[in-house]
Amino acid sequence: MEFNETTMVERVIQWSNINSGSFNVLGLERLSAALTHTFSELECEGDVLSLPPIDQVNSQGISTKVDLGPMLRFWKRLQAPLQILLVGHMDTVFPLDQPFQQAKFKNDTIIVGPGVTDMKGGLCVMFEALKAFEKSKHKDKVGWEVLINPDEEIGSLASAPFLAERAKSHHLALLFEPAMDEQGTLAGERKGSGKFTLVVKGKAAHAGRDFHLGKNAICGLAELVLGIDQLNGQREGVTLNVGQIEGGVAVNVVPSLAIAKLDIRTQSVEDESWARTQIESIIKEVQKQREIKIDLMGQFGRKPKKLSGKTLALYELVQKISTSLGQPLSWKPSGGCCDGNNLSEAGLPNIDTLGVCGGKIHSDEEYLLVKSLTTRANLTYTLLTHLSEHGF
Ligand SMILES: [Zn+2]
Repeated sequence: MEFNETTMVERVIQWSNINSGSFNVLGLERLSAALTHTFSELECEGDVLSLPPIDQVNSQGISTKVDLGPMLRFWKRLQAPLQILLVGHMDTVFPLDQPFQQAKFKNDTIIVGPGVTDMKGGLCVMFEALKAFEKSKHKDKVGWEVLINPDEEIGSLASAPFLAERAKSHHLALLFEPAMDEQGTLAGERKGSGKFTLVVKGKAAHAGRDFHLGKNAICGLAELVLGIDQLNGQREGVTLNVGQIEGGVAVNVVPSLAIAKLDIRTQSVEDESWARTQIESIIKEVQKQREIKIDLMGQFGRKPKKLSGKTLALYELVQKISTSLGQPLSWKPSGGCCDGNNLSEAGLPNIDTLGVCGGKIHSDEEYLLVKSLTTRANLTYTLLTHLSEHGF
């Protein structure tokens, strides 16, 4: 099947130029409108879902409700014998207030831009593959549903229950996260993850007059995060990253509040209770020594994804098809998580890196290999036609 590279490039650049950083609800709504316009070409049914707000700890250490933007759903032939769920996300890691906002050609073969690879290119691949599939003669045997969420980059906190619910109606899922490298390598097993916030409350005091009356929340937080960092290397496959801190109001005030945000990656479900127990014991120790109060908020949102059974069979099928197309590919484990973790936990076999090839994602050098737009669309198109002819 031939795909039109020029159209795909125009679309990716247009979508990339719409800022859709997680939490930028206005931008996510703009991108939703653009995506809805494009997907309507499939003459499918569609729906814009509003997700419930999520709890976020603000800079005052208080949990507040935050809106995340719309989720899109498109579907066709939900009565067909084989049901396939196609999943992508429209959010990126780039907020409005940073300079990386526009997509540009670096040379004839590479586009640099926010989200071009993760995953606006992937959304483009998904759309083109479906468009081509809808013209194929075997299409009636396959029904499909597309879900595009606005919160994947922050752990799909609001969309996860909906993904899990829709997973029950399908036989398999295809997700369009970027390939692991320029050769198109897929992510196989994936780690699980948890995101946590530590809120340390001390006691404010004048730094000169009443220094001895204060309880310094920043110093308490510092001990806490160093203790947590030292857990790295103590259990195989588990990493703990303190990624954000804030606290204090002025240099002449003993700070009464300090906050840290933490990302934990796990290899097995048992790692979760190990990490929690370790962190809680560090908290207890620091609280006792410094007479401060520490709250731990957050959760393990994604379980590790294992490669076995029908999921492994799906990987082997994609490998066979890509080889037949002259682009043999393999897979390797990833420390990263995505909605493939969530769907695996819901029991749905899935392959989650069918998107474009490129690199340096989540940085201001994120790039897309232009050629991969058409080769990856062809891979998913061929997979869909194979599944409709031979089943799964
Ligand atoms: Zn992504």
